[in-house]
Amino acid sequence: MNIVVKKTEHPKAKPEGKLGFGQIYTDHMFVMDYSAEKGWYDPRIVPYAPIELDPATMVFHYGQAVFEGLKAYMTEDGKVRLFRPEKNFARLNVSNDRLSIPPIDENLCLEALKQLVELEKDWIPKQEGASLYIRPFIIATDVSLGVRPSDTYKFFIICSPSGLYYEEGLEPVKIYVEDKYVRAVRGGMGFTKAAGNYAVSIKAQVIAHEKGYSQVLWLDGVEQKYIEEVGAMNIFFKINGEVVTPMLNGSILGGITRMSVIELLKKWGVPVSERRISIEEIYEAYKNGQFEECFGTGTAAIISPVGELRWQDNVMKINNGKIGELTQKLYDTITGIQTGKLEDELGWVVKVD
Ligand SMILES: *Cc1c(COP(=O)(O)O)cnc(C)c1O
Repeated sequence: MNIVVKKTEHPKAKPEGKLGFGQIYTDHMFVMDYSAEKGWYDPRIVPYAPIELDPATMVFHYGQAVFEGLKAYMTEDGKVRLFRPEKNFARLNVSNDRLSIPPIDENLCLEALKQLVELEKDWIPKQEGASLYIRPFIIATDVSLGVRPSDTYKFFIICSPSGLYYEEGLEPVKIYVEDKYVRAVRGGMGFTKAAGNYAVSIKAQVIAHEKGYSQVLWLDGVEQKYIEEVGAMNIFFKINGEVVTPMLNGSILGGITRMSVIELLKKWGVPVSERRISIEEIYEAYKNGQFEECFGTGTAAIISPVGELRWQDNVMKINNGKIGELTQKLYDTITGIQTGKLEDELGWVVKVD
């Protein structure tokens, strides 16, 4: 399929100063439609613009919506690079399957992404740590209030120049272990990047903010005993020399950063296990002085050191609230590979130009 490109006649001014996250959008977007008769059709890059939808459009009512998130980086010598983008489109199809959305052609979407990013090259921030955040997403577009899978969909890719996640430098965050609300259960859609997973998580996030915590750590939806993940990050613990992260059990998202961390640790010969881990086990390790490091992983922050975990009335200060050595090494390595400062020995980086 040929991707038609229609360039804007009104390019916007590029932002200056602090970028924040997801505030500014570039000049173009990728769009593609789906109908039951034609399949996915009319892939095109067009000027970024609002879209008009009938109020009875299905996505507004029943939430058939999935998305992805990845970043493009500008290397010091001005080259554009993506980090494992094929994994994002593969995961999008996993989400599609769970939400009864027809699969996309992963190769076509990767090609579209490359063309779009190439076209928006000048929007990629050059400051260290900044990047072009890329948001592919799909919505159900039938105009109908009947509960059934939509027969039509729209796929978009939009791009947003974004600043460093931690403007003040890598700072350990405080996390609240949520023991009232749950995010997902096995058999549900916790393993997908579906819009609804976020809708359900906002309330606990707001309460945690009010208590002075930046994010929530979810426990399993059945017993509220086993660790799941943080809002939009997977979680890792270093306990007595071993790195532990919850296994992919059907209710947590299989993060690409998580996968990359595990691959790196294995390469370095650091013991790492994916298994079920209870909050009690973490607290025991803490009391025994064996809880050494804790960090979250996700595209937005890459590696986010955790300095404090609060579970009920127990406050765990990790590594005196400072960044752990392994946490720092993982951050430096992954960001180094992404920005081209370190050699890409594992073949993770995709060249755009
Ligand atoms: C996106 C996301 C992550 C992180 O995944 P990455 O592929 O590493 O960005 C973790 N948890 C949830 C719930 C997410 O939506």
